[in-house]
Amino acid sequence: MDKVRTRFAPSPTGFMHIGNLRTCLYAYLYAKKNDGTFVLRIEDTDQERYVEGAVDVIYNTLKKAGINHDEGPDKDGGYGPYIQSERKSLYLDYAKELVDKGGAYYCFCTKERLDTLKDGNGVAKYDKHCLSLSKEEVKARLDAGEPYVIRQNIPASGVSEYEDMVFGHISVPNEDMEDNILIKSDGMPTYNFANVVDDHLMAINYVIRGVEYLSSTPKYNLMYDAFGWERPHYMHLSPIMKDAQRKLSKRYGDANFEDFLDKGYLPKAIVNYIALLGWSPKGNDEKLSMEQLVEQFDVDGISKSPSIFDEAKMRWLNGEYIKAMSVDEFVEVAKPYFDKSKVKDKYDYRALAKLLIPRVEILSEIPEKVNFLEEFGEYDTTMFEHKKMKITKEIALTNLKAIKDELKDFENWTDEALKERLSGLAEKLACKSGQVFLPLRLALTGVASTPGGATEMAELLGKQESMRRLDFSIELLRK
Ligand code: GLU
Repeated sequence: MDKVRTRFAPSPTGFMHIGNLRTCLYAYLYAKKNDGTFVLRIEDTDQERYVEGAVDVIYNTLKKAGINHDEGPDKDGGYGPYIQSERKSLYLDYAKELVDKGGAYYCFCTKERLDTLKDGNGVAKYDKHCLSLSKEEVKARLDAGEPYVIRQNIPASGVSEYEDMVFGHISVPNEDMEDNILIKSDGMPTYNFANVVDDHLMAINYVIRGVEYLSSTPKYNLMYDAFGWERPHYMHLSPIMKDAQRKLSKRYGDANFEDFLDKGYLPKAIVNYIALLGWSPKGNDEKLSMEQLVEQFDVDGISKSPSIFDEAKMRWLNGEYIKAMSVDEFVEVAKPYFDKSKVKDKYDYRALAKLLIPRVEILSEIPEKVNFLEEFGEYDTTMFEHKKMKITKEIALTNLKAIKDELKDFENWTDEALKERLSGLAEKLACKSGQVFLPLRLALTGVASTPGGATEMAELLGKQESMRRLDFSIELLRK
């Protein structure tokens, strides 16, 4: 059997849509699973205009995602060039070969003539007008320098069929397909043509891409057949939706890999999550490393139905990745977020990391979770009221005063020691420990959600600052 060769063929748009990244991932996983080769090809010919730095976005994304291509513009494997615009010179010759083989023909129709073919909705289906030109006439018009395009010659009747590895049997009546342009009047190929020539010349035998190409694929197969080339296998992938009606797109919020990195997701978690969007592993485990994904990936698990992007689930998964991190690993990825927060250079990030690791799902939660350390002032004292724990503002005030007395000469300012001391106090006061610890936590921080319990917060703040805040809160409650 031939070695499996798959490819990812992005157009350099300047961003990486999550759907494209998933296509890339599946092509990579399929190649790796089968000890094959994964090729990166940049499809930059159909582009309206050049986007500065867009190719770097592709490289950076793949790198961050841990998807390593075996061949590409920066890794020659003998099938280059891997950038379409550097392959320009090759397409016209192949198009001419296809004309000779009857799979395509020259067309000289003017825009005015094409306009007359338009129906009420402005849609025109080309009527094969130029297919009837004689060889001599074509030659004469080419020699005279008349502008032309080259069109695919689709049989007028019959059906074209193939087996898609995901969607099964696909059959399209030839009359539903159009004699699309393969070479434009400027001599450049269209996607329709370039993808066939490139995939063939790069020996791609498994074409994995978005479902929008499912129904065009019979056209591509007709070209493979006309050239006498072996058709590749195809795997088309369903779209990723925001909900039942809408595709995931920038219009409805985030849709690009970069957007989620900016929000504080870890590349590994994003990759893991998108692997599950449209593919189900056989086992129950959903937290899967790249190695595990390669090992478990199989076509049977790929779904034909569109998948719904569930950010809450990705967030949960991201939290699982964070929980599995060491303090050093966490500090490394969290540093930019600490630096953006009020604690910049004022606290030991490692000490904060220990508290945050079990409590944050995405890194962008960090500043709001630590800002209270540096930011403390008037706050809403209704926070102290807690029905279930039977805490009123009065009880909070009484207990805070008792805490203050209990701690004023206490020097062993560690989480453990403070916890023990205050548990003793709760017993002395004959109240529930929550009636001591909750008011203390709020009094020390001024916020409802904190990255740890009262005594952990006290240790972090140190005795002096803790006592200062305790005094402040007591005054606030007295008002
Ligand atoms: N450049 C095309 C795209 O970005 C590639 C389609 C394909 O994989 O054949 O949609």
